[in-house]
Amino acid sequence: MAIGEFELIDRYFRALGIARPDVALGVGDDAAVLELPAGARLVAAVDTLVEDMHFPRGCDPRSVGHRALAVNLSDLAAMGARPAWCLLALTLPHADPSLLAAFADGLGALARRHGVALVGGDTTRGPFTVTLTALGVLEGAEVLRRSGARPGDLVFVSGTPGDAACGLAICQGRVAAVPPDDARALRERFLYPSPRVELGLALRDLATACIDVSDGLAGDLHKLAEASACAVEIDVEDLPVSDALAAVVGLVRARELALAGGDDYELAFTAPADRADALRDRAQSEGVAVRAIGRVTAGSGVVVRHAGTVIQVSPAGFDHFAG
Ligand code: ADP
Ligand code: MG
Repeated sequence: MAIGEFELIDRYFRALGIARPDVALGVGDDAAVLELPAGARLVAAVDTLVEDMHFPRGCDPRSVGHRALAVNLSDLAAMGARPAWCLLALTLPHADPSLLAAFADGLGALARRHGVALVGGDTTRGPFTVTLTALGVLEGAEVLRRSGARPGDLVFVSGTPGDAACGLAICQGRVAAVPPDDARALRERFLYPSPRVELGLALRDLATACIDVSDGLAGDLHKLAEASACAVEIDVEDLPVSDALAAVVGLVRARELALAGGDDYELAFTAPADRADALRDRAQSEGVAVRAIGRVTAGSGVVVRHAGTVIQVSPAGFDHFAG
């Protein structure tokens, strides 16, 4: 059953997310009109997911809808912004109702969880590609940036990086003989990442620098170090590794994935050591574990230590154009 573009927008996207009083005009006119609180600043992020590049062909469309929004909310979280609205540019080879329903369901569930309204978009025919723009609000003077780390700060990461990279490998059938419960837990971490929005908001007056971990922890810390004109030194033994990941690939490989895997959508950030307790308390009250994994020093790049000796990690992380 094929449906037309306007029917498609009406049926699947018009009411997506939540109704917000600050949406003066949403889906239906030539552009959306949004009301910002007095004195607030707008924060904008956009990310594209391409089939076979950012999600495997045949991936549950519910997960594609979830991830399209999650990866952008993660960018807003890393700035300490509160998400409010989003725009969706959707390209599909054909208007498949069951795919559209599942996609809209995945996107809508996450949007409702974070109070985000879908206010517009574009729908075109072509290879399955999703571009989502997320808009958020910066309420106070603080904004989290990559560039604020200072020598002496501690380096922290939320959650358990590495799980999602293993989850993707399991989805693709590249990992053999995985216990079913571990397989399910790790797949979920790839398919349904939790953007750390509340943590980002809680970090605004505590962290000196912040980045979201999308391309691998080591690579993203490299970007933070460059932006801050400092070095970041981390200790492999301090990396938080989930029990499921360690059970499936062993501790050594688990730590490699925690350093260089992608698609985690955790936050990596820096703060002076005397704020560490306050940070852990706030993260805990937001339901997220954070772990100190190293420190900021004078110098450049990322230095990774294991049992006291420096080991080599590619600073590129996962680079789409590296080869
Ligand atoms: P225009 O040609 O003026 O850009 P469209 O006909 O493409 O308008 O879209 C009509 C309305 O539907 C617009 O308000 C647009 O923002 C919205 N829209 C189109 N596609 C989507 C989508 N995938 N998700 C949400 N809103 C959409
Ligand atoms: Mg249009």
